[in-house]
Order: sequence, then structure tokens, then C-alpha cells
Amino acid sequence: MLAFELDYPFFCANPTCELHVRFGAPGVRGRGNWAQMPDGRLLGRSLHGDEFLCDACGRQRSAGSREHAA
Ligand SMILES: [Zn+2]
Repeated sequence: MLAFELDYPFFCANPTCELHVRFGAPGVRGRGNWAQMPDGRLLGRSLHGDEFLCDACGRQRSAGSREHAA
């Protein structure tokens, strides 16, 4: 396993996301840069701050409410 994968063990860092799955889970494609939602949508992911988020969560994150779980 790559060190990179150890640093970011989940496809999406959002614990409430359907793509909060480990690499190697069903639906994660290629080298882990794509994952398929249960409804069939294929999403990429990108780095937001210090965590990876899927496209859907990343869009919400950058869309506004910078919620910080205090
Ligand atoms: Zn997500």
C-alpha cells in the first residue's frame, strides 16, 4: 500500500457521505481517484484543505457554509 493511501484512507473524508469508503471497497475505480455512488454516478475527488472530498462534498464545501465541528 502506498503511503499516500495511508494518509488518506477514505475516498471522501466526509463521514456522512456515501463515498466515505476505504480504497479497495466496491465502487472505487482505478487507483482510487474515481468512485461510483449507489445510484450509478461516477464521482472524482479533490483535495480541500488537508482532506480529500468527493465532487459532491467538495462542491458543498466550497459553496458556502464553512461549518467547523467545534
Ligand atoms: Zn463525499
